Amino acid sequence: MPDISTGLIHHPYLPPDGFLAPLPGVFKASTVIFPSVAKMRSADWKDKTGYTYGLHGTPTTYQLEERLCTLEGGSQCLLVPSGLAAITTVAMAILKTGDEVLIPDNAYGPGTAFARTELRNWGITHRFYDPMDAQDLQSKLGPRTRLVWLEAPGSVTMEFPDLPRLVRICQDRGVTTALDNTWGAGLAFRPFALVAADGLPVAVDISVHALTKYPSGGGDVLMGSIITRDPELGTRIKLTHMRLGLAVGANDAEAVLRGLPSVVLRYRAHDTAARELAVWCARQDAIAQVLHPALSGSPGHAHWVATCQTGLGGAAGLFSVIFKPQHSARSVDAFCDALKLFKLGYSWGGPISLVVPYDLAAMRGSWPRQVAHGSIVRFSIGLENVDDLRADLTQAMAAALAAS
Ligand SMILES: *Cc1c(COP(=O)(O)O)cnc(C)c1O
Repeated sequence: MPDISTGLIHHPYLPPDGFLAPLPGVFKASTVIFPSVAKMRSADWKDKTGYTYGLHGTPTTYQLEERLCTLEGGSQCLLVPSGLAAITTVAMAILKTGDEVLIPDNAYGPGTAFARTELRNWGITHRFYDPMDAQDLQSKLGPRTRLVWLEAPGSVTMEFPDLPRLVRICQDRGVTTALDNTWGAGLAFRPFALVAADGLPVAVDISVHALTKYPSGGGDVLMGSIITRDPELGTRIKLTHMRLGLAVGANDAEAVLRGLPSVVLRYRAHDTAARELAVWCARQDAIAQVLHPALSGSPGHAHWVATCQTGLGGAAGLFSVIFKPQHSARSVDAFCDALKLFKLGYSWGGPISLVVPYDLAAMRGSWPRQVAHGSIVRFSIGLENVDDLRADLTQAMAAALAAS
C-alpha cells in the first residue's frame, strides 16, 4: 500500500466512460500526460488530433474552437486572452519590419494604439483610410501594404462600409484582409461568405472576435478568437500564437461554451430592443442624429442592407446618438450620470445596458463628415425590459437636458 499522500495523487479509480451532459466537461491542465516515450516523442503540438501541453489545447478549448468555427463559418480557430490580443496577434503574425498596415479611421481605438506604438517601434508603418470611400482605400494600397483591417460598422460612429467591395479591392492586390467581427458576431453576416454587388462570393482572410461581448454574454469574461479558412494562413498565425505563449483558462472557456447556446436568442433580443430605442431616440427633441446602421439615414445603411441580408439580418445592440449642439458637453455628461438602469462602463454584450460619452474630436483626426456636430453618447442595450429603459432615458433627459 502506498502512503496516503501518494494514494491521493495516483488514485486507481477511473470514472466510467460514456458520460453525456448538455455542456462539455471542463478539462484543466498545464501538464498533459503521455502514455509512453514514443507517444511523447511523436506528438506534434500543432496537430489537433492529440494533446501535448495545456498551452496548446485541451478538450475544452478544442470544443470551443470548433463551435466558434461553426458560428463564424471558418475552419481554424485560435483562442486568445482578449479581443485586443486577437488584433495584436494577427498583426504580429502577418507584419514584419518595412511593411505597412491600413486601418479604417473609425477602428476600435486600442487596436489603433498598438499600431501607433509597438508596430511603429518595430518599423511597421500604418495609415488610416476612410472605410466609406473605396477609392481612398484603393489609393492607399501600396507596395508595402501587407494587411488591411476592416470593421463593420465602425467603432462609436457606426458607419457601415461596403465590406465586399473593400475586401475585393484588397484581394485584387494580393493583400491580406482581417475583419474585426465583434459587432456582427457571426450572426449579422457571414464574414467568409460575403456577396459582392456582382453576385460573386467574397471572403475575408481573417476574422477576429471579442468573445468578451456576445458569445460570453455575461460581462464577466475576457477572451478573443482568430478564425481563418486557409490552412496555411491559420498555421502561420498559430505559430506566432504559440511562440507568444497565448492561452485561455479552462473556466473562461467554459463560460463562453455556456454562453454559446443562447447567443442567437440574446443577439436577436439585444438587436430588437436597440432598434426600438434607436427609433425612439430619433424622435427626441434633444437629439440631432442617431447612428445605427439598420436605421435609414444612418451612414452606410444601404451597405448594411446589402451585407446583412445573409445570416440573421441582425444589427447587434449598439447605437450612438449626437445631441443637438445647444446641449453642452457638461449637460450631456449630466444626462449620463442621471441614468439609473444604464450603467457607465466600457464593453458590451452583457445583460446590463451601458452608456459611454465619447470625446469624438479627440478620437479622430477630423470630425467624420457623415456625423452631425454635437456631443456623442453610445448606448449598449442589455436585456432589461425596453419600456423600463425608455423610461430611464426619458427621466434622465428631463433631469439633465431640459434647462440646457
Ligand atoms: C471590445 C472590442 C474589442 C476588444 O475586446 P476585449 O476583449 O475587450 O479586449 C475589439 N474590437 C471591438 C470592435 C470591440 O468592441
